[in-house]
Amino acid sequence: MAVATQSETDSDDGISDPAGLRRVRNIGIVAHIDAGKTTTTERILFYTGRTHQMGEVDDGTTATDFDEQEQQRGITIFSAAVTCPWREHTLNLIDTPGHVDFTAEVERSLRVLDGAVLVFDAKEGVESQSETVWRQARRYQVPALFFINKMDKIGADFESAVDSITKRLHAHPVPVQIPIGAESDFRGLVDLITCKAYYYQTGTLGAKVVEGEIPPDLEEAVEHHRHQLIERVAEEDDVLMEKYVHEVPLEPDEIRSVLRRATVEGRLNPVFCGSSLRYVGVQKLLDGVVDFLPSPMDRPPIEGVRSLEDDSAELRRPTADDPFAALVFKIVAEKPLDLFYMRVYSGRLKSGSRVFNANTGTKENVSRVFRMFAKRREQLSEAVPGDIVACVGLKKSLTGHTLCDAKHPVVLEKIEFPAPVISVSVEPRNIKDRESLGTALRRMERQDPTFTYKVDEETGQTIISGMGELHLEVLTYKLDKDLGVPVNVGRPRVAYREAITRAVTVEGRFVRQVGGKGQYAIVKMRLEPFEPAKGAEAFEFVDATKGGVLRSEYIEGVRSGARDTVRQGFLAGYEVLNVRATLLDGRAHDVDSSELAFEQAARLAVCEALKDAGPIMLEPIMR
Ligand code: GDP
Repeated sequence: MAVATQSETDSDDGISDPAGLRRVRNIGIVAHIDAGKTTTTERILFYTGRTHQMGEVDDGTTATDFDEQEQQRGITIFSAAVTCPWREHTLNLIDTPGHVDFTAEVERSLRVLDGAVLVFDAKEGVESQSETVWRQARRYQVPALFFINKMDKIGADFESAVDSITKRLHAHPVPVQIPIGAESDFRGLVDLITCKAYYYQTGTLGAKVVEGEIPPDLEEAVEHHRHQLIERVAEEDDVLMEKYVHEVPLEPDEIRSVLRRATVEGRLNPVFCGSSLRYVGVQKLLDGVVDFLPSPMDRPPIEGVRSLEDDSAELRRPTADDPFAALVFKIVAEKPLDLFYMRVYSGRLKSGSRVFNANTGTKENVSRVFRMFAKRREQLSEAVPGDIVACVGLKKSLTGHTLCDAKHPVVLEKIEFPAPVISVSVEPRNIKDRESLGTALRRMERQDPTFTYKVDEETGQTIISGMGELHLEVLTYKLDKDLGVPVNVGRPRVAYREAITRAVTVEGRFVRQVGGKGQYAIVKMRLEPFEPAKGAEAFEFVDATKGGVLRSEYIEGVRSGARDTVRQGFLAGYEVLNVRATLLDGRAHDVDSSELAFEQAARLAVCEALKDAGPIMLEPIMR
């Protein structure tokens, strides 16, 4: 295996890098379920020397799937951050869940990554979940490499897989390798940058790679793809374009460095191929991660706001000279202390220090900081920008919270989570577990922002809600096995929502004036469907009354009455989403008006309006 010279990947742009950040790659592997993410991760851990026995997904012994339940299911559900060395670089691998029920976890991990490897099944090409993760990667502007896995599988077709990426993902794939053979005849690959052929000997776990001749029947394909690669790269750089038009051959290093820039800036996606199962191509993919994916220093400074109340912009550069800022992206329940996974964006995080949680406004203790490997952890005296570490000692921090220097507070962009769509009732199997159930649910709610629970006021039942049936199954299993509270589970209830389809204007009158102090409130309101901004509340209230028509507490009464009524739904008691309620006008009485009267008038108005506004049921958002 070629060892890259420093100049290849760690271009010296004059910016000092005392912490060696240029040699860090924070990456995630994302894929449609079954494309081979777990197997590929396992191979990576093996080649990077951190596990000594190759685990096989099919017998449930892989290193990242250490959760007992994942082994039983054979799919990766919980993300774990693992550090591994490659070619004098540190790779922090964030294992992302591939199941649609856990999209929030995928989003959360993408948020803290610098680059991603998208794994495809060579037979299936782009699948539905690949589209979802690709959209998410684009949203967070995460540069990506593509790995066409399962080249050994019957029906494997490299060209059509790449075609499906171009067509369905609207990405910019550029093969930097092509496979030699396919299906049972898959033997190796041709590196289009060096124009060398590599043959893998099965039976040596891919350790033995032999350089050889390009097979004659592949020459035409190599020629074609190499030409495309050179053309794409030349378009990215004037000097290379000059050489290209004058037919001067390009050096591998210059191809790599321009391809790196284009990948980091999101314009190109180098394509690799192999078979993780047969140990083919994984080391080359790791070379690709080092060569083409960004280091924390290649990424733009992270943006945030000063506090939850003050949204003046704050920037943190990836340097220890900036004030400390980190984002908690995962909390894992461990005995005796929970592990808080975080990414450090700037400054230093020392073991035994106190940090400020900008979301809660309180200080937290970070008693110890660890770097996590698949099967062991290493205690650090401090973490620097770009590091992905796990800490213990924190108490009140939640997933998505920012930890920072109290003198320089910052709230990094908060992670948005979709609302749960499905619920089941649970009751402890043993009556004595009533209290432990509450404690366990609170703990789970802290770890998983897509999980909520409540006690139904009418029935007294405990209802848990999540993103899908599998999610709930996993949660109830966790309750039993991890938290020691076995439960009986009721039938799933899907959380429907309602919506309105047209605008209506109505009047609401709440007037009672017979003897004594009466009630008096009249409001004119408009209800209409609207599209809330991303992450904003699905209900908007606008006060369009002329100044002074109504006292501010009356307006507050209208707002709260309207919001409550919208939440209660109209057709079947489910919240009505995406409603804007505008208070157009109102009338009050000197003596008989009150905030409560206006709340009541607004309820009457909104009820009336919902009836006329073309109410519909929304399908739950599920697979
Ligand atoms: P994940 O769901 O994306 O994590 O996929 P896994 O790594 O669990 O793999 C799913 C299935 O595909 C397992 O049965 C693997 O043994 C199999 N698999 C993974 N990689 C390959 C490969 O390169 N070739 C073939 N033929 N099968 C593979």
